[in-house]
Amino acid sequence: MLKVSRNDMKNLFNGLIQLFFPRYCLCCDRFIPHENMFVCIDCQMDLGKSMVPLEAERARIFGAYPQVQSLDIAYTYLKSAKVQKLIHHLKYYGYPEIGRLMGTRLGGQFQDRGLKVDYIVAVPIHWKKKKQRGYNQSEIIAQGVSAVTAIPIHGQVVKKVKHNTSQTRKNIEQRRKNVRSVFQVNPKLNLNGKSVLLLDDVLTTGATLEAIIILLIEAYPEIKISVAVLAMA
Ligand SMILES: [Zn+2]
Repeated sequence: MLKVSRNDMKNLFNGLIQLFFPRYCLCCDRFIPHENMFVCIDCQMDLGKSMVPLEAERARIFGAYPQVQSLDIAYTYLKSAKVQKLIHHLKYYGYPEIGRLMGTRLGGQFQDRGLKVDYIVAVPIHWKKKKQRGYNQSEIIAQGVSAVTAIPIHGQVVKKVKHNTSQTRKNIEQRRKNVRSVFQVNPKLNLNGKSVLLLDDVLTTGATLEAIIILLIEAYPEIKISVAVLAMA
């Protein structure tokens, strides 16, 4: 009698899955003969490490806030179509796994700084958007960062209370005014003297991050903030 082991069944099952749902690399569209992979090894090696001068960018974007002690950027964005493609898949095409994968590199980079941080805080999205997308991409990135650094994620620090708002066309004064209507810091917490790692997917003008930084500093003047993003546009 033909004996079929559990492993045979598993292989058969995986074979069928491959047959009906073959996996292709999200970057180069080549077939990946591996389950649980979204980006082929070649492309993973090929994703450019960010060459942005981090200290200069921190000073340029967040220099007005001495509480912001560091900025990390994991990947080069504009120069790499692959990175752009991956982040689009993360944000718009329902591939949260990419956030975890890319988050681990960001986490490794941050860990090399040797800074002590109490909590990871992911930039929130409005609950309506989260419901629509199924997840907050920054929280997913946070999971990847947390897996590497063992820093716990604190999900109750900031909330986005206004849907569909853009900070980009406003000047600094308007932004400061606008901030309070867009994000809210949890009044029940006390993070004075604590340090947080603020995480977002892409850094463009820095307006969203700045909005949250303003609120955090207002609520906890003694807070220390590190900022980390996957890429800079
Ligand atoms: Zn590939």
